[in-house]
Amino acid sequence: MNEPGILLIEDETQIRRLVRVALEEEGFPVLEASTLKQGLAQLHAANVHLLILDLGLPDGDGIAFIRELRTQFRLPVLVLSARAAEGEKIRALDAGADDYLTKPFSTGELLARVRAQLRRNPAEGATAGALIRFGDIEADLALRRVTRSGALVHLTPIEYCLLCAMLAEPGKVLTYRQLLHSVWGKAYGESNHYLRIYVSRLRQKLERDPAQPEHFLTETGLGYRFQI
Ligand code: CA
Repeated sequence: MNEPGILLIEDETQIRRLVRVALEEEGFPVLEASTLKQGLAQLHAANVHLLILDLGLPDGDGIAFIRELRTQFRLPVLVLSARAAEGEKIRALDAGADDYLTKPFSTGELLARVRAQLRRNPAEGATAGALIRFGDIEADLALRRVTRSGALVHLTPIEYCLLCAMLAEPGKVLTYRQLLHSVWGKAYGESNHYLRIYVSRLRQKLERDPAQPEHFLTETGLGYRFQI
């Protein structure tokens, strides 16, 4: 496959068929694998630009697979997980997955998540020096300057640091732990209330309606997601 496509690693034939049909109807070429071993071979052989990964596979641990994958590949990883497995979802995100879908899911939701991941090209991610615009906000990371409709927004160092951590990964679910580590350091891995306070401050300063955030979204029980 030379055309960039989506790789689906899932051992349940029915779900594979459902996902393949939905993706192909949207014009995405799809590759399938039913084991991690097959999936890894496909990743090396084909031009894969997004991976949809079921965590419950017969030949290994999906979370360890993501961790391993992250040493070699930067492609977005969308995890399929069972409803009961909240802890598993968090571990998958901490290991480097970008988003998750809970089974059973609708194909409409699946396609929306896939499109969102494909829109965020990692190569164009928010690196130092980037200018990022969302709503009426412009964040100039080279100048460390944030404006709202042209007026300067004052952010404290912690607020700015949290903003940068979120802007760096648009569309990705960032777990509490990931955000706490990047803003406060590893000693603060369990201090979720800090995050709640500072995310709320960012919303006050940067959202059109802080009560109905459009950019700094809550992922209940998991963390937050920045949406451009
Ligand atoms: Ca499975």
